[in-house]
Amino acid sequence: MKIKCPKCKRVAELTSDFTIVRCENCKLEMSYSEYVKFVAHNDPTYSDILGDYAMSTEGQTSGTLDEWD
Ligand SMILES: [Zn+2]
Repeated sequence: MKIKCPKCKRVAELTSDFTIVRCENCKLEMSYSEYVKFVAHNDPTYSDILGDYAMSTEGQTSGTLDEWD
């Protein structure tokens, strides 16, 4: 089936068993799972969703050990 190439934005081909994505235009070839990751990484909509996982663990201020008078 035809899908959008994540690299050159032209028409790429996804094999009928959903395993390999191939683009004749830029010679892209990757597994479908890689393709999904690639798209998720480059699409701002997906990035917002993925960004939630990247919430930092800030707030852990390390106090000084020299509190003896
Ligand atoms: Zn391409």
